[in-house]
Amino acid sequence: MARSAIFFLLFLVTNASLILLYPFTISRLLLVASIYAVGTVVMLYLLFHPRNQWLVANRSRVDGTGCVALTFDDGPDPVDTPKLLDLLREKGVKATFFVVGKRADQYPEIVRRAWVEGHLVANHTWSHHPLFCFLTPGRLRAEIERGTESIRRSCGFRPCAFRSPVGLRHPLLGPYLKEAGLEYISWSVRTRDTLTANSSVLARRILNKVVSGDIILLHDHLPAGTNVMLEALPRVIDELRERGFEFVLAGSREDGSGKTLEPAPCEPAR
Ligand SMILES: [Zn+2]
Repeated sequence: MARSAIFFLLFLVTNASLILLYPFTISRLLLVASIYAVGTVVMLYLLFHPRNQWLVANRSRVDGTGCVALTFDDGPDPVDTPKLLDLLREKGVKATFFVVGKRADQYPEIVRRAWVEGHLVANHTWSHHPLFCFLTPGRLRAEIERGTESIRRSCGFRPCAFRSPVGLRHPLLGPYLKEAGLEYISWSVRTRDTLTANSSVLARRILNKVVSGDIILLHDHLPAGTNVMLEALPRVIDELRERGFEFVLAGSREDGSGKTLEPAPCEPAR
């Protein structure tokens, strides 16, 4: 909570520096411009850098020599997620799905299938709000809690892992995740699968970057579909296996007491 307070103080000081413009002189303008620029750059770094630890403790790597983790954000998608699950089953690969709560409520059977087939299901907020770092405290808490609840309705347990939309931070995210018992999991390989139209380019980009311990960011729901990712993935899996890599989950399927979370029947969405 202390860091949240320091962040808000930085915000106030940066904006309060505008008072120094009165009475106006060129030297005062330069001073205010310097304070404002430094304050803004620091705040943007803290809010936007996906692996910055200062506001929210997070993990962007997995343990174990030769281990890598595939993570899929923004699903479930009624068409592409089942295709991806079929592919992962065929290849014998387990992955981590950061699901959007309101989509999980629309397609709970897909979320449940992912869990039952040995994947990790994690919270990617309720609505995937594009201005996540500017949410009010009440809305932030609701985004986390409703995301958790929709997974509980789909699978019968509360998830243990969380990732925010686009990796954005919020000054209150750290304390709220602690309260909710959620670990923040970031990534170390950004594949830019959302911007790539060629599966060979995507596969090559991933294969050129991956080293032991990486957490790889991909998406199983995109407005234009995920065919490019689905085409690239078999090659990525096969080549990484040939290099000796093992695919692991980005987090644990156990609760805090070490007990594996067991799925219960789906509950209807409210
Ligand atoms: Zn996302």
